[in-house]
Amino acid sequence: MPREQGGGAEATDPVPVDSQDQEEKVNILVVDDRPDKLLAVETIIAELGQNIVKARSGQEALRFLLQTDVAVILLDVNMPGLDGFETAALIRQRKKSEHTPIIFLTAVSDTETHVSRGYSLGAVDYILAPVLPDVLRTKVSVFVELHKKNRQIRSLNEQLQKRIGQLTETNQALEAFTYSIAHDLRAPLRAMLGFSRALLEDYAGKLDASGQEFANRIVSSAKRMDDLIQDLLSYSRLSREQINLGPVPLEAALDEALKQCEPQVREKDAEIRMADLHSEVWAHKGVLVQMLVNLLSNSLKFVATGVKPCVRIWTEEGDAWVRLSIQDNGIGIASEHYERIFRVFERLHSTEKFPGTGIGLANVSKAAERMGGRVGVESQPNHGSRFWVELPRPSVHPHGSNSAGGG
Ligand code: ADP
Repeated sequence: MPREQGGGAEATDPVPVDSQDQEEKVNILVVDDRPDKLLAVETIIAELGQNIVKARSGQEALRFLLQTDVAVILLDVNMPGLDGFETAALIRQRKKSEHTPIIFLTAVSDTETHVSRGYSLGAVDYILAPVLPDVLRTKVSVFVELHKKNRQIRSLNEQLQKRIGQLTETNQALEAFTYSIAHDLRAPLRAMLGFSRALLEDYAGKLDASGQEFANRIVSSAKRMDDLIQDLLSYSRLSREQINLGPVPLEAALDEALKQCEPQVREKDAEIRMADLHSEVWAHKGVLVQMLVNLLSNSLKFVATGVKPCVRIWTEEGDAWVRLSIQDNGIGIASEHYERIFRVFERLHSTEKFPGTGIGLANVSKAAERMGGRVGVESQPNHGSRFWVELPRPSVHPHGSNSAGGG
């Protein structure tokens, strides 16, 4: 049943309707100083089955809008005191109602001057008297539906945010768990490694060839497991730790990474061709260097037997980004593997053929993410690979936050 809120001195304010059984209904606010016109509009739109709230003045409407959300306002233009336009202007000034649709109700004789003024105040429509019931109902029902849909979207969005919060927490707990497990696994592993080495050194005379072979296998398996755990720990650390970002000259980071890859370059007699790099990126130097070491060492490692590695490095600058490319002449990668190689433990080859743990590119991807960047690859089997990293330019962060929390 529609409720009328009086306009006299003793009138109570319109009451927002939000009880449980009316949860699905939305509020429609009708503002007119004349009770007969209010009743006429109310009769027409009652069929929509929503909560109709009536106000007899602009002030009363504004008071109601302070506390309650409405789907649409039907606002009479000619009212004593605050007229419809002044009321609309005040409605628009408030954050809560700045986007609430307003339909002006006006007499045909006023149309000329009213229409343009009303639209400039953000009216969504005009209804001229005498009101055609079907037209009014249809127009109001459009806004009712729109409001309901918006409400649904808001509620879905809230649920989604809540879910994201829960997932982030679970993720952090899992990462903490992985970290402590990996950390704790290293102690017994070191004991296995130490004792099997002692066996080989101190009891070599007492072990026959098979015994020595078994002990050697224990040593190499324990070493491999230690490598895996160490890489996993570094991935976990990269995900969890706070890193401070700032401007880093790319050339300096690359020089440092190349220095770390020097033994591999020498061993393979590799050729490194580096373009002049003058760009700076917004990054963490240590994390960036480690990322480049991973990419460079892969480009030196995944090369067919007998082929001398040749690695080309260059940059391209966008408005907001610097893209660094590392191109090799290696064995290449089929496009169906482009995504999966960036995941933890994903490898395309046996460790006998190409040693490794399968965590390097996961680290590269996590590092890029933590520094607000992206990574990708373009490659074809037997035609080399080009791995690229895009990082923000420092100019995009003139006074921005300079750290990235874990997660
Ligand atoms: P790892 O190097 O320890 O195997 P990564 O995570 O660095 O692990 O790489 C994952 C897989 O992606 C590698 O095992 C290899 O199959 C493929 N890959 C990475 N870099 C290259 C490259 N430059 N050329 C060809 N394959 C590559």
